[in-house]
Amino acid sequence: MRIGVPKEIKTHEYRVGLTPAAVREVTANGHQVIVVQGAAAAIGFNDDAYRAAGATIAATADEVFANADLIVKVKEPQPEEIARLHQGQVLFTYLHLAADKEQTEGLMRSGATCIAYETVTDPRGALPLLAPMSEVAGRMSVQVGAHCLEKEQGGAGVLLGGVPGVAAGKVLVLGGGVSGTNAARMAIGIGARVTVIDRSLPRLQELDQQFGARVHTLFSTTAAIEQAVIDADLVIGAVLVPGAAAPKLVTHDMVRRMRAGSVLVDIAIDQGGCFETSHPTTHAQPTYVEEGVVHYCVTNMPGAVARTSTLALGNATLPFVMALANKGWRQALIDDPYLCAGLNVHAGVVTYHAVAQDLGLPY
Ligand code: NAD
Repeated sequence: MRIGVPKEIKTHEYRVGLTPAAVREVTANGHQVIVVQGAAAAIGFNDDAYRAAGATIAATADEVFANADLIVKVKEPQPEEIARLHQGQVLFTYLHLAADKEQTEGLMRSGATCIAYETVTDPRGALPLLAPMSEVAGRMSVQVGAHCLEKEQGGAGVLLGGVPGVAAGKVLVLGGGVSGTNAARMAIGIGARVTVIDRSLPRLQELDQQFGARVHTLFSTTAAIEQAVIDADLVIGAVLVPGAAAPKLVTHDMVRRMRAGSVLVDIAIDQGGCFETSHPTTHAQPTYVEEGVVHYCVTNMPGAVARTSTLALGNATLPFVMALANKGWRQALIDDPYLCAGLNVHAGVVTYHAVAQDLGLPY
């Protein structure tokens, strides 16, 4: 099979669909890979590394799209990329179609078979191609939160780890799922006092098993959230209600009662955010201050650490890329119902029920 890897063209997107290591695996299995020149130069994977892994370097995106049976990307295709897709071609990438009718209709018109990373499942019902980015965002949240606590950033001037003779800072994590657990791990690592609040008792039990006395767990009630938020130096919002907007667990009034210079990092901002005072920000201007509290609400946190994110995403996608290449998309989906759950558009029709329903399109 011929596999195409374009350069991402969405603003400030530096990740890439396949790393040179992944290309080597694919070409070793007898497939061809075409990578557009400079596809991942920004994150340290140059064209020579791709050539050494067995790829052909194409001068233009047109060449890649025209000659590939399978396109592997990261972000949803932009209009000029949709225009290059053709019937019979397979697209494997993040799509997030439920809120994007224009893209969905474009993909329908293209006639391509579109498999979305975000709806691929695993035997536990989890989302294995979203998890790596939640891991990255969770770990990053403590790093950015610690930075925001510095005076120059508008913070209270608190060092999360404290020093001998001075108490460590308090980190509150709302939601102890993939990103919340990774945030807790980092916060513990730098010596902060860490509390995790979740509405799932089994999840709290797992966290208790995993971290022992280094993390305090609390069941999610308004009273518990209120008390812990007001007491925290850094609050990390990491809740998710699948398929729904994030619940506004922290009210404007709670934010007003926090100490000046405290910090909120809203990882859940891509689902609307879990603080009433949150609004989306970008890496160019990541923070703002409201009620004296620093807010960091970047919707694509993993983009800032594009090299790590590419490697993490690639580890998760490679087995599926191999299956699609080795078996052909049809047999790969028949053999693997979890990969099949990723099929969103095929031959002009939306094949994912929730997307069709949300957009009012035939299914
Ligand atoms: P997850 O499903 O693994 O965890 C969510 C947790 O929230 C679960 O443990 C759940 O029990 C808990 N929860 C739900 N409602 C709650 C409530 N009312 N009170 C307390 N806990 C509650 O989800 P995840 O993979 O960690 O993702 C979390 C969010 O982060 C998602 O919105 C995801 O899209 C987002 N995310 C954002 C970025 C970014 O760049 N901003 C990157 C990756 C993921």
